[in-house]
Parts: sequence; structure tokens; C-alpha cells
Amino acid sequence: MGPRREQDVVIVGGGLVGSLLAVVLAERGRPVTVFERRADPRRGGAEGGRSINLVLTRRGVRALERVGLATRAMALTVPVTGRMMHAVDGERAYQPYGRDASECNLSISRAGLNAFLLDAAVERGVDVRFGARLVGADAGRGRLSFEDDASARFEIEARVVFGADGAGSALRGALRDAGTVEESVDMLPHGYKELEIPPDDRGAFRIEAHALHIWPRGSFMLMALPNVDGSFTATLYLPYQGARGFDRLADPDGVRALFRSAFPDAIALMPDLERAFFANPTGSLGTVRCRPWRVGGRALLIGDAAHAIVPFFGQGMNTGFEDCSVLADLLDARGNDFDAVFAEFERRRKPDADAIADMALENFVEMRDRVADDRFLLRKAVEHRLEVEMPRSYRSRYSMVMYSHIPFAVAREAGRVQEGILDDLCAGIESPDALDVERARRLVDTRLTPLLRARNVRLDY
Ligand code: FAD
Repeated sequence: MGPRREQDVVIVGGGLVGSLLAVVLAERGRPVTVFERRADPRRGGAEGGRSINLVLTRRGVRALERVGLATRAMALTVPVTGRMMHAVDGERAYQPYGRDASECNLSISRAGLNAFLLDAAVERGVDVRFGARLVGADAGRGRLSFEDDASARFEIEARVVFGADGAGSALRGALRDAGTVEESVDMLPHGYKELEIPPDDRGAFRIEAHALHIWPRGSFMLMALPNVDGSFTATLYLPYQGARGFDRLADPDGVRALFRSAFPDAIALMPDLERAFFANPTGSLGTVRCRPWRVGGRALLIGDAAHAIVPFFGQGMNTGFEDCSVLADLLDARGNDFDAVFAEFERRRKPDADAIADMALENFVEMRDRVADDRFLLRKAVEHRLEVEMPRSYRSRYSMVMYSHIPFAVAREAGRVQEGILDDLCAGIESPDALDVERARRLVDTRLTPLLRARNVRLDY
């Protein structure tokens, strides 16, 4: 073990949030070093050739805009303007996401975005050390122990440490073991498997490009998001155990039988289905809640390390990117008083992180089950009508989460009030055309508007 090296700002983890945070801090003149356990993903092979994507929405875009990277990032995205539901009999139904096509989600390659942000960090003078895994920390003193690829240990001492090392954060683990942080980790009984829908022979998308395709089947589902190269990344969500469980899929015949019965129209789209199923790992999904997120002004957990959530609202990365925007605002307002900045950061972000964690869990039930239910589709159609009839006083919870900067905790609160309004408006009607618009206006004005006013929230986004 060599002598301890002194650093100014250290970020543990050079994933999506760590690399954006590095840009934010470097732009504020701090010498930043990132320690990342993986090899440099820009050298290829990061995901074994698989192309894995995720959706970027308004909160994430704003964080990129703040550091001047949004325009270049847009070239890496495919706009997704709604959901395409696939029934077992092959029938398809499309639901637009937003009020118009400008309200859309942006599908982007995880590896491509990570490489883009690492390049941006390096361009701003950030020192990124790959193959360096955090194995121990005395965070109160800023002392960190790493292991390199050859399992050689080295130690550093940092003025400020950020833990951006993801859901299984080693920094959070060290703080928990030291009794500084309390955490709860709730794993879902479902796992996921990434599969591929390649482009057709002409390099074109095989199904509607600008949609999130969903095959909702009650306790399980398949979904697919487009990539810029004409392919889709499909993700299969199944319980680990039971009749439709991963544990029953021991051979290629079992996989084909599942697809034949539950997703028959997807089989023709996936020529490599069985091979990919057994070659790709099964991922796990969970919610991490912890507190405090900080050790004085010395260490801060950020992104998934502080608040990992299940992926069903597509907000994990977006929430981590919004963390970076909030931190940038606080650093600009309070300079280098990290004690005050970290305290205020946690005070502001913790309620929002808890709210999006709850909403993401609720959305799992909606996506795999309710999107195929006629009464649910009627509610969505009525809600869409409310958004069109009264755009300044009604926006769906989905829209507030995806297309606004309204705090997640307020979106969750407003969503509960909206559920009650929709219960009343949908009772006894069979079509959105039968909506009593005057009554709807009264309900919105008396139940929702006072809440939004009290929370100082406007819907003119
Ligand atoms: P990570 O991306 O996990 O990065 C952590 C980094 O730290 C990694 O590079 C890792 O190698 C490194 N690291 C870990 N341990 C150590 C260590 N001991 N020492 C050094 N380095 C270490 N979010 C969205 O916003 N939209 C979506 O559509 C979406 N879809 C998703 C779909 C799935 C199936 C899943 C699982 C997640 C999805 N998410 C989505 C969530 C999103 O992936 C995460 O919220 C996001 O990656 C968090 O970024 P992060 O940088 O905090 O953590």
C-alpha cells in the first residue's frame, strides 16, 4: 500500500450521475477525481455488445441544458411519444403520453450517454481513474481505500467525497457499517432480462419507432424501447418464481412456449430470442431508502446510492440528474460551504426521492396490469380530455412527473386528489364524450387548484 494521496473533490462512481456531477463540479472550478470500478466504457465491450437504453425526460434534459450538453445529447435519442399496447391476440392500441408530440420521452443508450458524459468531464479537466473499486471508507475524515484491477490497495484522503456508486453503493455500505446511515432495501419479487429486436433487413424499425411497446400480462410484462440504429431493446419482467417465473424457464423450449402463449406477435420480432435469453443475465430490482445522506460537509450520497428506485416511471437517472441541478443551484447560492449545501440538499431532495420511489412502485402495477383494462383506459381518456379542456388547471400526474419540474412530492399529493376526481367523473359513464365538463371544472377548482396554489405550483409548463 503506497502513501495516502490528497485530493480535493472525489466522486466514487463514474456512471450516469457521477459523470454528470463531475462536469457540474469542474465547471465550478474544483479539481475533481472520479474513481470508477469498471474499465473505461468508451473503449467498447461495456455491455458485452448489448445495447441497453433508458428514457430521458424533462428533469434530466434540464440538468444537461445547465451544463450546455443538451443539444449534443439530443442527437443520441429517439423521441417516444406514447405507449403501444400489444394484446395477446395481436391487437394494438396506442395512447399518447402528453398533450401533444412535444411532450415525449427520449430513448437513449445507457452506454452512449455514459461515454458522452465521461468525454465531457474529461474535456473539463476531470481526472477519471478506471479499474478503481472503493473497498473501505472513513467518510468523516474523507479517507477512502480502493483496490485496483490487480487487487492492489491504495488510499486517498479527500476534502469532499461524493458517493455516486449506484444502488449497491460501497460508500453507503461503509457508512451503514459505521452506524452513520440507516438504510432499507426492498427487493421486488420480479427480475428482468434484456432482449433485442434487431432492425429489419433494410435497417428499419420492425414496429412503430416512436413508441414504448408494452405487452402487459397481469403479473408480468414485456416492453421495448427504440434505439437510434433501428433496433429495440426489449425487457422482460417476470416473477422469480411461480407459473410465469424465471425458475420455470430452464431451457429454450420453455422460453419459446412462454412467448408463444403470452407474446405471440413478439416471436417474429426476436430471431435471437432463446440464445439472448440464456446469454444475458437476470437483473434484480429494488428500492433503497436511507438517511442521512451526508456526513457533515465531508461526504454526500447522490443518485441511486442515496435513492435507488424501481424503473417503472423511467425516473431513476432523471432523479439523479435533477439532484445535480439542485446541487448546482445550492453551490451557486452558498459557495463552498459544503456543510450548509449538503444539509439543504438533503432537506430538499429526500421528500421528493421518497415520493418518486412510491410512484415508481405504483406504476409497476399500472404498466403490467391496468393498461389492459377498459375502465382504466376510460379514466386515461377522461383525464386526457380534462388536460385539453382546462390546460392551466389540470395536468395528469404522469405529465407532472415526466414533463415538468414540479417537486415529486407535490405531484404525488396532487395525484391522490386527481384519483378522487376521476373516480367521481368516471362513475356511470362509458365514454369520454359523456364527461360532464362543467362538473369536472367545479371539482378541479374546488379540490385540486387550492392544493396547487398552497404548494406554489403552476401548471403552465
Ligand atoms: P449507476 O448508473 O449504477 O452508476 C454507478 C457507477 O458506480 C457504476 O459505473 C459502477 O460501476 C460504479 N461503482 C459501483 N460500485 C463502485 C465501487 N465500489 N467503487 C467504484 N465505483 C463503483 N432511469 C431513468 O431515468 N429512465 C429509465 O428509463 C430507466 N430505466 C431503467 C431500466 C432498468 C431495467 C433499470 C435497472 C434502471 C433504469 N433506470 C432508469 C434507472 C437508472 O438506471 C439509474 O437510476 C441510474 O443508472 C443511476 O445512476 P447512478 O450513476 O446513480 O448509478
